[in-house]
Amino acid sequence: MFQKFIKQFILLNILLSFTSCAIAQKKNSPPEINKQLAQHIILIGSDGLGAYAFEKAKIPSIRKMMNNGSYSLKARSVLPSSSAVNWASMLMGSGPELHGFTEWDSREPELPSAILGETGLYPSIFSLVDSQMPKEKKGASYAWGGIRNVFERDLVDLDYNGSTDEKTIEHALEFLTEEKPVFTFIHLDEPDHTGHKLGFDSDEYYLAVEHMDSLVGQLLSGLEKSKMMENTIIIFTADHGGNRKSHGGKTLKEVEIPWIAYGKGISNQGKLNNTIVTYDTGATIAYLLGLQMPESWRGKPVKEILSRE
Ligand SMILES: [Zn+2]
Repeated sequence: MFQKFIKQFILLNILLSFTSCAIAQKKNSPPEINKQLAQHIILIGSDGLGAYAFEKAKIPSIRKMMNNGSYSLKARSVLPSSSAVNWASMLMGSGPELHGFTEWDSREPELPSAILGETGLYPSIFSLVDSQMPKEKKGASYAWGGIRNVFERDLVDLDYNGSTDEKTIEHALEFLTEEKPVFTFIHLDEPDHTGHKLGFDSDEYYLAVEHMDSLVGQLLSGLEKSKMMENTIIIFTADHGGNRKSHGGKTLKEVEIPWIAYGKGISNQGKLNNTIVTYDTGATIAYLLGLQMPESWRGKPVKEILSRE
């Protein structure tokens, strides 16, 4: 009888230690939903900027974000390494199997979307901001018209298709400083345009990268001048790289893209260890804004970018 009591006592203790262990683990692991970490999040996407370009191009503004932030030059596009499918994945926190945009110029999902948001589109980060931060402003300024098909145009405060990258940046900066939006997406068409015309490893391609960098520099100095940078996080990335005069294939030159986080509360550790796929971008933005992600989203927030103070 006494032995049975001892056995039960030990069993109870083991059970208790397991439970307290589980509680301790829960306390130590980062919460799935964060609090809002910056007043403004800006996503800048440079079309056709392969990670390989960082070896040859002189890009002081982008380097400034890398040196004072966190980055990976081994992030990956989804397949195929084409435009619309990747912009959709970036904004929609999921791959083409779920959002259904599968081609370079998809105007609507070739594969029916697995779920539909309130505007009839697979929910993008814009939907999340709209429903969970209804008072905040959000918008998109983009140089390639194809972007208009992969986000909820009806929900945004800015829907601007610039005829050039210059106008796209100018308009985005105006929107940022005047409206103080919580989320802004900026799409720049270069160096993709030059890559298709003259080659993704041509001198002109690298010049286009350098010019794009100067536009990013304009945006940064505008944000600094208006003191907005103090409360802003920028994520800078690309949809795909390129090989010869095209992309869409399975070489690393086409698939490996830069992924940089810079700004308020972002660690200045430099190189990240995480594996990043382009659908993690949407998930990271949701996390930085303290938004709950739809169950169907497959992206994971890149929490490694946060500084531990
Ligand atoms: Zn593209």
